[in-house]
Amino acid sequence: MSNAQHILEHVFGYDHFRGPQQAIVENVIQGNDALVIMPTGGGKSLCYQIPALVREGCGVIISPLIALMQDQVDTLRELGVNAGFLNSSLDAQQTRDTEQALLNGKLDMLYIAPERLVQPRCLQLLKQAKLSLFAIDEAHCVSQWGHDFRADYLQLSLLHEHFPNVPRIALTATADDRTRIEISKRLELDQAEHFISGFDRPNIQYRIQHKDKPKQQLLQFLRSEAPHDAGIIYCMSRKKVEQTALWLAEQGFDALPYHAGLSAAQRQKNQQRFLREENVVMVATIAFGMGIDKPDVRFVVHLDMPKSIEAYYQETGRAGRDGEPAVALLFYGLEDVVKLAQMLSGSEGNEEFKRMERHRLDAMLGLCEVTSCRRQVLLRYFGENSEPCGNCDSCITPVNTWNGTDAARKLLSCVYRTGQRYGGQHVIEVLRGSNNEKIRQAGHDKLSTYGIGADLSNNEWRSVLRQLVARGLVDVNAEAFGALQLNDSCRALLRGDESLQLRRDPRPEPSARVARSTSTSGVEAHDLPLWHALKACRKRLADEHKVPPYVVFHDSTLLDMVQKRPTTRDALLTVSGVGDAKLDRFGEAFLDVILEHEYPATES
Ligand code: ADP
Ligand code: ZN
Repeated sequence: MSNAQHILEHVFGYDHFRGPQQAIVENVIQGNDALVIMPTGGGKSLCYQIPALVREGCGVIISPLIALMQDQVDTLRELGVNAGFLNSSLDAQQTRDTEQALLNGKLDMLYIAPERLVQPRCLQLLKQAKLSLFAIDEAHCVSQWGHDFRADYLQLSLLHEHFPNVPRIALTATADDRTRIEISKRLELDQAEHFISGFDRPNIQYRIQHKDKPKQQLLQFLRSEAPHDAGIIYCMSRKKVEQTALWLAEQGFDALPYHAGLSAAQRQKNQQRFLREENVVMVATIAFGMGIDKPDVRFVVHLDMPKSIEAYYQETGRAGRDGEPAVALLFYGLEDVVKLAQMLSGSEGNEEFKRMERHRLDAMLGLCEVTSCRRQVLLRYFGENSEPCGNCDSCITPVNTWNGTDAARKLLSCVYRTGQRYGGQHVIEVLRGSNNEKIRQAGHDKLSTYGIGADLSNNEWRSVLRQLVARGLVDVNAEAFGALQLNDSCRALLRGDESLQLRRDPRPEPSARVARSTSTSGVEAHDLPLWHALKACRKRLADEHKVPPYVVFHDSTLLDMVQKRPTTRDALLTVSGVGDAKLDRFGEAFLDVILEHEYPATES
């Protein structure tokens, strides 16, 4: 057995490498540079952690996320690895101890913040030590075009000059070509082999539903699929965050608010509870999420539509970083489109900028209304081709379509006859022949289109309208309070030269149920008692060790225990994520829980 394989099994407790991991690990062990692009949850850490353990000397990991270093180091220590970190949170004595450990060859891995690393004093220190490799995590921070740009990262090219014989591995989840080329150039990684995996996050199930009764839809999802899971619920406004968090708490969920209007102390406290405890639901504006690396977020819900596919993908990407099943659920309606378009037209920025943003919004809307696989559309947006995924709502419950040509033409001509000055609801009421004051005053009950759409319900008309907007056949004029307007592209349809297939919106409730008979974490109902007992055991040990629960074991490990039900130490070792050190530390406690469930003590 190779050294790397041995470490994979005995330290990390996994029996095989995933995807390109093995090739990357071998490459670095041989002393070569590497540039690794792998989606979140793909398993980047092992790519440098295993070479750092196989090669002689200490592996230096450069990461901008100081807040996460403690967790990363704790995780490694629980695995029996000698790890440390150097950043501004340490006092003088702790810093000296860590430096001494490095010089004495007592460290396997050392995490350093980039601003510290580039200081002459730190470089001097590293030169006196034996180093196995440099891992540059979040390498896209060198990109001046990205929003995570860090000036200190630019200086990391000096590693090459100061340590020509130490291999470097740069890693990121940002996959566009421009960023990749920039990383390679700025870090002087000319000799590096590139390992590029796609964008896909296969464990995330994408679902998009139109808003019917959003609160009920949300409650239905949480109660039936995620009653004991941690998740994030995004809302557009602070007020809605507050209200939703309050309402969910009343419904018995452990829900907390997070937005930029809360005090720093309150935000910190809520974030800490989300990270350290299980089952906390964070209701937040998009202010929440940057640098949050909680691996076991089981769902991300959007109660409002994000303004672009980029934003949607980044926000939903916070689910399932541990690679386990997770759900991304979006509720959207026409009112979202109007609101976003209004925000856009009222925003700063020149016409060119607004035009680009408008395109992004249209693409997002297109994703909401597609009748085919959502993932295919997402990946194609980022330039990747793929097959239908089998793990999105369109794949799980194929969308019915209907010939909407007639309906579309009725709607378009009603927009025209009412003077292109009214919003969707009014136009629909005219079509349905409603008898109200506004219609009578405008004289719209006299129009030829009055009442010609009585065959469809209000919701069906809203669906038609959303799809026409999504296809760019009707414009929503944000400057005119959301008035519907025609444009050139609808001519062919009006003339009768074109026909139109529209999606028939499924009833939201059943589709969610069909999607999953188990909870978001994939536990079958009859396994829930053991699952909860294992989680309680994990929480107790985590508190004892003063670490978050996922540092003890990831959900995937507990899930594997539920499935294998090991009752001996040897059997426990075959569980994914159980290596030698964790077996010694935690094995007995978990075996007790399982034995208790398999052979419950009988009352005499
Ligand atoms: P990334 O940094 O790419 O987002 P991580 O390195 O945090 O991903 O890994 C994601 C999850 O996958 C972690 O829970 C990790 O323990 C797990 N993992 C990584 N490699 C393997 C493997 N070969 N077998 C099983 N689990 C793995
Ligand atoms: Zn799909």
